[in-house]
Amino acid sequence: MTRNKNITILGSTGSIGQSALEVVRHLEGFNVLAISGRSNLAKLVEQAIEFKPRYLVAADERMAEDFTFPDLGETEILVGEGQLDFIASLEEVDIVLAAIVGVAGLPSAWAAVESGKTVALANKEALVVAGHLMTDSASRSGATILPVDSEHSAVFQALKAGSPDEVNRIVLTASGGPFRDWDANLMESVTVEQALAHPTWDMGQKITIDSATMMNKSLEVIEAKWLFGMPASKIEVVIHPQSIVHSLVEFVDGSTVAQMSPPDMMLPIQYAFTYPDRVAGPCPKLDLGQAMSLDFYPPDTTKFPALELGFEVAKFGGSTGAVLNAVNEEAVAAFLNHKIKFTDISTVCRNILDQHNFEPFPTMPQLIAADQWARQEISKWMNA
Ligand code: NAD
Ligand code: MG
Repeated sequence: MTRNKNITILGSTGSIGQSALEVVRHLEGFNVLAISGRSNLAKLVEQAIEFKPRYLVAADERMAEDFTFPDLGETEILVGEGQLDFIASLEEVDIVLAAIVGVAGLPSAWAAVESGKTVALANKEALVVAGHLMTDSASRSGATILPVDSEHSAVFQALKAGSPDEVNRIVLTASGGPFRDWDANLMESVTVEQALAHPTWDMGQKITIDSATMMNKSLEVIEAKWLFGMPASKIEVVIHPQSIVHSLVEFVDGSTVAQMSPPDMMLPIQYAFTYPDRVAGPCPKLDLGQAMSLDFYPPDTTKFPALELGFEVAKFGGSTGAVLNAVNEEAVAAFLNHKIKFTDISTVCRNILDQHNFEPFPTMPQLIAADQWARQEISKWMNA
């Protein structure tokens, strides 16, 4: 018998993290070795009591100081961002689920890749910002990066139907978000509450706003480029409101292979955990006994200008991903704090991307500098 696989869950208190723990509850052969969270420390403690990990990391020192931890027995409590890298690269860890949101998740995802782990990657921002460094590092260390994003998991599964040189294009599906059918000139008046009401997926706040602007699909185009080594010219986006077909791969002979399942993140998480095997688990199945229709139509790039940015970044690479991601993170936070309009998000991303000093082969310090520059620019613009 093989031993249990040890998993580190970075961001266990989030939407993906909680779905991952629900998967683990149903699977045999997996042991949660470490968990981490930033703000919801009561939830993190609850998870530690249930899963008895060896380590619990409270990533934010100030929040940890303000919280009284109970005695967690065998679980060691570690505090601070640096400890995320520690639990991502522990010798005994087999699989690291990178499920922190934003560029804050890059250092620990990077540490997992550098130490040759199987990395179940939900944190798409790590590839958007540092795709070339992450993929180079994986080929040096022997790490395997497995997609958790539902579209990329679908592509990964569909790609098994042929060899890489038989692939014509990748088609990523998008629900279109809550404003899919809205009139373009109403977009300026979108409220935070309206933008947070996603029609098909229940997710963390940042990705929910990204889905409403369609920036999420932009980030996913960049993510697909790095995961599958595909040029931007071979990646397309199609609107599919039902979120049943999670993406498609078209082969040279004209055959298109799709992956379908109800919209639930447990499936791509579980597939990354059990890959290359498939096992029975908690994921719901499609009920094809019920009448249903599947619609597909092209996206409206005039109404959703954010969509074009991802194709541009996927094409030019270099420092563009770090800049787009940083401005978007700040713009989303400002929108959630009622400081800017919904439509400002894509406008400011466009403007700052156009102003930036392009660096074709940035190092990690150069990417961090590009990220900081972009955050300063948006802050100047907001204070102007
Ligand atoms: P979330 O906001 O629900 O959870 C984020 C997690 O990261 C929490 O555990 C939080 O404590 C932790 N965190 C936040 N800021 C941190 C920081 N500065 N340092 C350390 N930890 C921090 O987010 P989510 O919806 O679970 O998304 C996580 C990632 O997965 C994102 O990159 C998102 O794009 C991606 N993703 C999510 C979904 C989904 O359905 N939620 C689908 C596909 C991809
Ligand atoms: Mg997705």
